[in-house]
Amino acid sequence: MSAINKAALFQKLPSTDELLRQPDMKVLMERDGHAAVSESIRVVLARLRQEIGSGQLNDQSLDLALGGLSAAIERQLRQSLSYSLRPLINATGVILHTNLGRAPLAGAALDHVRATASAYSNLEFDVLSGERGKRDFHVDRLFQKLLDSDRAVSTIVVNNNAAAVLLALNSLAEGGEVIVSRGELVEIGGSFRIPDVMSKSNATLREVGATNRTRIADYEGAINDRTRILLRVHRSNFEITGFTEQPSLDELVALARRRNIPLMEDLGSGALFDLRSVGVNGEPGVLDSLHAGVDIVTYSGDKLLGGPQAGLISGRVDLVARMRSNSLFRALRVDKLTYAALEATLLAYVKRDHDAVPVLRMMRLSKDEIAERAQRIISQVESAATKPARLNVELVDGESVIGGGAAPSAALPTCLIATTHADLSADELNTRLRAHLPPVIARVEEGRVLLDLRTVFPEQDANLVEALASLKN
Ligand SMILES: *Cc1c(COP(=O)(O)O)cnc(C)c1O
Repeated sequence: MSAINKAALFQKLPSTDELLRQPDMKVLMERDGHAAVSESIRVVLARLRQEIGSGQLNDQSLDLALGGLSAAIERQLRQSLSYSLRPLINATGVILHTNLGRAPLAGAALDHVRATASAYSNLEFDVLSGERGKRDFHVDRLFQKLLDSDRAVSTIVVNNNAAAVLLALNSLAEGGEVIVSRGELVEIGGSFRIPDVMSKSNATLREVGATNRTRIADYEGAINDRTRILLRVHRSNFEITGFTEQPSLDELVALARRRNIPLMEDLGSGALFDLRSVGVNGEPGVLDSLHAGVDIVTYSGDKLLGGPQAGLISGRVDLVARMRSNSLFRALRVDKLTYAALEATLLAYVKRDHDAVPVLRMMRLSKDEIAERAQRIISQVESAATKPARLNVELVDGESVIGGGAAPSAALPTCLIATTHADLSADELNTRLRAHLPPVIARVEEGRVLLDLRTVFPEQDANLVEALASLKN
């Protein structure tokens, strides 16, 4: 289109002021205010200008767009005044999906957040003595029960596990060296790299061994008078298989004791629950490490623990005290919402009410329970009046994964709802499911959309039926 023609199209656009004088815009302004409405008008006009400029609009299609201008402004207004962060249905079967908010919180955690955060609380106040208290007291007392070991253990809470590792390294190893195996120099999603965190903490990384093999003698040979910590990092999101060697935790503990150097372990996903009972092996629990004699462990609150985003540091009382008195701790501390959600989650563990914690409940679901729900959903979709004729839904066997950088190769047997459509590709079906309200997030594999109910809350099953039955022909 020529520049002259485009200029003619630009001429057709009304000004913001003209639009603001229109009766239907006045109605919107009375409801949502002048600022929000004029902002929406500007956004919609800018979009039209951009579409004219790029040649997407001609005379006819512009007239059409101008006919629907008020509706477009209202849509824009509604969108700008609604939440961006919204709930959705996770039908991927990945229990700890970092992009989908990791662990959903327990009902008790939400109740406790609401009760303590909508009023004043004793966050840092000892009600009995009337004196100032410590905010970590509320959860440390519960960790002490849960991490009952032969030695006294303290726990502090920071913003996330990345912050926990940073605080621990800075407190214990600033200006000194930290020995780590080359096989454990991991990157966790979102660019958390052990060497980077190390340099931010002002500690010097001392790499030992090779990617696939590190022996206890490698650690021993690297120890010198600048060594402050031996660090073990859990390989959360990958496995090294084949010709490999790694010292056992017992060997590392023995070496650390002999040379009087603290042993720290970044567990990543701190399980306070015996995963072997759900058939997941090889994922170390917090207690396993502390019982083995590790001095300091760091782990996330929103991975296998199933609580709010947080970084937990548990271990030797004297070492944790050094971290608590580090000014970085003040910068990395968490607020009352996190303490409330964490306290309620931990209390469920203390009461051994594991089904109260959603991620634990999901891990414990049997394949049969999932199959039964899936079959019910399939029957309901089949009998729905709106079911697209060319949609096919069937039950197939599959696997759910824990995700979130935990047990990389662990899979839980599950049943999947496999969906195909005679006229739509799996990607198109998937896009339509995402456009549903609430959005449904699924997996696409081998030309089928796969829905795993392990991560779908039973009260969302009806939404799934609706989403599937309303996929247009
Ligand atoms: C997930 C993970 C982290 C980062 O934890 P965040 O709580 O996400 O900050 C660090 N180290 C390991 C080994 C992890 O698995």
